Amino acid sequence: MKAVVATEQGGFGIVDKKLRPLKSGEAKVKVEKCGVCHTDIHVAHGDFGDKAGTTLGHEGVGRVTEVGPDVDSLKVGDRVSIAWFYEGCGRCEYCTTGRETLCRSVKNAGYTVDGAMAEECIVPADYAVKVPDGLDSAKASSITCAGVTTYKAVKESHIQPGQWIAIFGLGGLGNLALQFAKNVFGAKVIAVDVNEKQLEFAKKLGADLVFNPIKDKVVEDIIKATDGGAYAAVVTATAKAAFNSAVECVRAGARVVAVGLPPESMDLNIPRLVLDGIQVVGSLVGTRYDLAEAFQFAAEGKVDPKVELRRIEDIQDIVKEMEEGKVTGRMVIDFTKE
Ligand SMILES: [Zn+2]
Ligand SMILES: [Zn+2]
Repeated sequence: MKAVVATEQGGFGIVDKKLRPLKSGEAKVKVEKCGVCHTDIHVAHGDFGDKAGTTLGHEGVGRVTEVGPDVDSLKVGDRVSIAWFYEGCGRCEYCTTGRETLCRSVKNAGYTVDGAMAEECIVPADYAVKVPDGLDSAKASSITCAGVTTYKAVKESHIQPGQWIAIFGLGGLGNLALQFAKNVFGAKVIAVDVNEKQLEFAKKLGADLVFNPIKDKVVEDIIKATDGGAYAAVVTATAKAAFNSAVECVRAGARVVAVGLPPESMDLNIPRLVLDGIQVVGSLVGTRYDLAEAFQFAAEGKVDPKVELRRIEDIQDIVKEMEEGKVTGRMVIDFTKE
């Protein structure tokens, strides 16, 4: 079967691979769709260590074609996801207290183990979340990564219906965060981005206010418009300035949730944190249960990821387009096309 792997040269290569036999508790999945993520580019480049030969991909959706011994949570024909959170140990303090994505011996698809950017892959049955009927596989593949990440981030912000939430960065993650905040949590949304096109798109998706740091005084404007500051902020941007503005634009007692991963440190004004009781928290993908919830909301049409179907042979072009910043929606490899 064809698989996209990280190459010795730090790129993407299509190879012919054979899956090993299933072990106890595992299932074989015929992949239908797999999104291409910037994380795949980092893994291929060797930014997180040498992973040459590993099958990439953690935004997979496919159907179970075979189950190994001792599998009772999945059956042949089930449609399931292959996500970045591939498997936890199931026993540690994080796994047993609802924070399984923090498991210190976590396995990640397309990184520690072979992922979903292939015609077939193996999943631990208890960790493959079922995709509800009525949700398109390509859209589901986007929920598997960007969707669950932003759903969890908005959940972690503790926003309540009717309250103002500021979302910094309205790209692939941010536009989903906006949809979850608006359509699932019933919040009023402020969209902040330096790109006017993204702000136009945010308005179409229902953003109540939009600000552009290039021409607006974002912090002052948000404090004024919300009569004291937003109740929460979610930062998907990858600019340090956005993190600093997020801490400045919220009201006392607010939560700022960090999702974007700029390589630098942010400035944290300690009196601001202490005297105003601001909480700054990081949020990493989501648990199996978060993913099941995010899938359900997408199946109900509350969030609609923008996807574009591509062929596996286009992988080099896709990566180039992503690296050049030409991509708007998610590029999804369609393994059902011949
Ligand atoms: Zn991803
Ligand atoms: Zn664990």
